[in-house]
Amino acid sequence: MAITAPMLWLDGSLVETRSTTMPVHGHAVQRGSLVFDVGSFHGAREGVALFRAREHVARFMRSARIVGLPLAFDEDALVRAAAAVVAECGRSEGLVRWSVYFDATEPDLLPRSTSTHVTVAAQILEDPPRAAPIRIATFDDARKAAPEALSPEAKVAAAYVGPMIARRRAIAAGADDVVLLDREGNLAEAPIANVFCVLAGVLTTPPLGYVLPGITRETVLALARSEGIPVQEKAIPRTAFSMSEEAFLTATSFAIAPIGSVDGSALPSAPGPITSRLASRLATTQRGEDPDFSNWVAYVR
Ligand code: PMP
Repeated sequence: MAITAPMLWLDGSLVETRSTTMPVHGHAVQRGSLVFDVGSFHGAREGVALFRAREHVARFMRSARIVGLPLAFDEDALVRAAAAVVAECGRSEGLVRWSVYFDATEPDLLPRSTSTHVTVAAQILEDPPRAAPIRIATFDDARKAAPEALSPEAKVAAAYVGPMIARRRAIAAGADDVVLLDREGNLAEAPIANVFCVLAGVLTTPPLGYVLPGITRETVLALARSEGIPVQEKAIPRTAFSMSEEAFLTATSFAIAPIGSVDGSALPSAPGPITSRLASRLATTQRGEDPDFSNWVAYVR
């Protein structure tokens, strides 16, 4: 669970988090039209640093464009706001969440007013990182929304309801999480994470098209290439997944989470050697200690 810091940035000013409200009959809540993105900050060599904040803000702006939410702030302002809330919270490790939502208090399908509010908040993870590898379930009828129905690139609240129900079903079936399938029955992604597996020594992840362009996904692909690990973005049939040599999920909120089993079959090693190597390289990179990728780190103070 993540706890929001006492102060957040609202439309250009720092305000008390507890003073902010969301109208229960408003568009963001009743239609799920709120758009968001989640980045991270880390204790690094020269202080506290945002990791790939520009990429998170660029994706946030793209999501808002897809959903049709006008944004009154540009990329620089949104990155600066993140640095301000992280510096203000006084912590060295956590998440930063950008949100934009219609201020319409009526749920009309197309809001009559298109004016929006923007918040940027630092959030602190309360739970210790999970030690055990995760157990994944897949179901023939738990699939990603078709891209023609809703672009997988839009990080919009409403997109998470189907995946939430699928995760609950996975937990009821004795697993920890679900990997949703695409229309062809190949792997797409988990509710809030991308999926990777190692097949015949090649690090493999589903191509873009059905999945969010995860920033950790892209980071891991770049780090693997720089480590000389062969990579491919290629459709993964469900049957190949449970035969993987190793597998993991990637997301900003937990970085790399090794997968221990798929549909009840244990994978040979979790974390496997490639997973461990990438997890350790990613941690080094986020601390600003990776000379090849030092431009991904921006110090806040
Ligand atoms: N897929 C979905 C649907 C997500 O919500 C997330 C979390 N943002 C991810 C993948 C992982 O993306 P990232 O590595 O950018 O956190």
